[in-house]
Amino acid sequence: MNTIDCTHINPFDAGDNTGRFAGGYLFKDNSGRNGFLLNPENGCSIILSQELYEQVETKKIDDALAFKLIQRGLIENSACMQCQTSEKVQPTFFIFDLTQACNFRCIYCFRHLEEKVRTISDENLDAIINYIIDYCTKYRITDFCVQPWGGEPLIAFDKIKRMDDMFKQAGLYPLISIETNASLITEELARECAARNIRLGISIDGIETVQNMHRPLMSGKPSFDKMMRGVRILEKNEKLKNFGVVTVLTSRSFPYLEEIIEFLATEVKAPCFKLNLVKDNPVMKDAGLCLTQEQVEAAERTLLAKLVELNRRGYRITELNVQEKLMNLLVRSKTNICTSRGCMGGTKMIAFDQDGLIFPCDVTDYKEESIGSVHDRQDLISLVAQAKSSCRDFFNRKHIEECDTCPFRFYCKGGCTTAIKYKKGCVEGVDNQECVANRTLYPELIRLILTDPDSILSLTRGRVKLNR
Ligand code: SF4
Ligand code: SF4
Repeated sequence: MNTIDCTHINPFDAGDNTGRFAGGYLFKDNSGRNGFLLNPENGCSIILSQELYEQVETKKIDDALAFKLIQRGLIENSACMQCQTSEKVQPTFFIFDLTQACNFRCIYCFRHLEEKVRTISDENLDAIINYIIDYCTKYRITDFCVQPWGGEPLIAFDKIKRMDDMFKQAGLYPLISIETNASLITEELARECAARNIRLGISIDGIETVQNMHRPLMSGKPSFDKMMRGVRILEKNEKLKNFGVVTVLTSRSFPYLEEIIEFLATEVKAPCFKLNLVKDNPVMKDAGLCLTQEQVEAAERTLLAKLVELNRRGYRITELNVQEKLMNLLVRSKTNICTSRGCMGGTKMIAFDQDGLIFPCDVTDYKEESIGSVHDRQDLISLVAQAKSSCRDFFNRKHIEECDTCPFRFYCKGGCTTAIKYKKGCVEGVDNQECVANRTLYPELIRLILTDPDSILSLTRGRVKLNR
């Protein structure tokens, strides 16, 4: 098997009129024919032939290579613009708690369904939507996304329509996306979603055995057939047929991972899915669902190998984390608020609970993390700025010693804040699960870039084509 070798190259002066090589990590596969040079401070990178990476190793960079390295943000030069590394606070992704009601009883669900479930009142729904409308109008934001979450959001479809109507009356057309268990999808509902441009994503945990074990109905009966009926309805709808899929992997479904991905490609015909590892927190641990570190590492490797194999067999399928991490490495593009530049809670994402309290992400179980209320109608950007400057737990720096020497620190930044909060009750250290996933997947992706460049086109869904 191809392995990947990584060495650190210290910063050095590249010549009087050239500038300073900023330092970076050089990855080589075991053939040594090509190298991948990555700057961990700004996420910039370049693929270099052996002849060129040896110039960097020997600190003898010719003019042609210097020009490329300046362009790619790997040589700092006072005459050139610096790469932007900070993010402007401007939320464009809004999630809110629509309903706790659900007709499934997934084994990893953290909602307390034995208690009385609530659906948002019209009054609070209107207050949240008007708050988003006022904010987007004030800052002239037209490109934004709203995600009502549950429970099962389609149980409260009338409220989703009410929200959509409010935005349209205000002359705003956000991308409304709904994650559903698919059991309530009918032909009529699909037509209405298509007409309204509402995007549906389906939670599917895999082959029949796994789906029924992970995601039983409230009655305890299997859910597979109901879920597949919803899938088949969407497949027939031209506007909805390319729906996204979210798959949760636990220690119980881990042994079936290859079969699950095969099923998503060949039976569900999903062009893309997101594999979420069940969150490592005390509730999931008690339920015996968490993955071990070895399982996380094996899952990342299996995922990538299976995707490559499926694409070779002609199935055009990718996984969102794989796609986004490849985009990070190759074009440093921000395609996702969570995994492109570390946590964007508060900066790009905002959550609302059913009472209209505002949170920097889905930490609604921790009321002390609320940064304000929609009912007070205060400016959102000021609320985030106040929360950041008042040293709220949520905005603590996420860091361990290993981050200082980690090649992927620009992209990772310690992982998901909410995951840490739910695991530890406070934000300290890093999101260990994401750390293991990143330290496994990024080197594997670099190995693929260097040894199998043709596979990148399909794994990025046509976004990046590498020359051989
Ligand atoms: S948390 Fe882990 S992967 Fe992320 S920057 Fe730190 S060491 Fe690297
Ligand atoms: S807390 Fe987690 S889910 Fe929320 S924005 Fe940050 S990384 Fe994403």
